[in-house]
Amino acid sequence: MLDGGSSRAHTKEFLRALAAEGAARPFAVVYTHSHWDHVFGGIEVDAPIVAQASTAERLVALAAMDWSDEALDLRLAAGEVSPGHVANVREELPAPRIVEVAPADVIFHDGLSIELGGATVSVRHLGGDHSAESSVMYVEPDQLLFLGDCTYPSPLGALTPERAFPLHEAILAFGAERYVEGHHPSIVSRHEMEQLVEKMRLAERSVVEGLTITAPDEDTANFVEAFTAGHSSA
Ligand SMILES: [Zn+2]
Repeated sequence: MLDGGSSRAHTKEFLRALAAEGAARPFAVVYTHSHWDHVFGGIEVDAPIVAQASTAERLVALAAMDWSDEALDLRLAAGEVSPGHVANVREELPAPRIVEVAPADVIFHDGLSIELGGATVSVRHLGGDHSAESSVMYVEPDQLLFLGDCTYPSPLGALTPERAFPLHEAILAFGAERYVEGHHPSIVSRHEMEQLVEKMRLAERSVVEGLTITAPDEDTANFVEAFTAGHSSA
């Protein structure tokens, strides 16, 4: 199973749907990174958790944190988290909130391979602006790459050329034909991914050179916003 879901309830629903399809119960959960919405449901799977070393460290820290409404409000007031984060946690896990974060059972550094019988999953740590922890999972022979949230901006909305460009080169180097992002329902083709990288490079150049792109599409406008945020925070 790729990521553990955002709550026990959410993951219960997923496991029920798997059972309804006649699929086997997951024998392990591999995390792409430790953001709460990817790991709070992990304990419900009741299977070994596989995580990159920095993700594993963070899981221990998350488990020790206070997740009450009062603690969320304090972190919001201190500017440590965004209003959106607090609203999302409250919606997914209504108060009184019990958060149990399972620690990692298997820890990797650069990556590891999992043989599924007829399919091999290669887990690779890539990092990036969204989270330095970000790992991706490549499924062969399907040529399918699960990206987690790695291509997204940082939680504060920033992209930087130092992180985003090498990340996208590493993504394209897998030779995948299809890509699945962490929070998007559609599957991206290789051609679409290459176009996105082009738009990203154009957006970054326009930010650095102070040029305005006339009538940018949604992707380009989002990239301009994120690189502007990354540029001004640098
Ligand atoms: Zn994330």
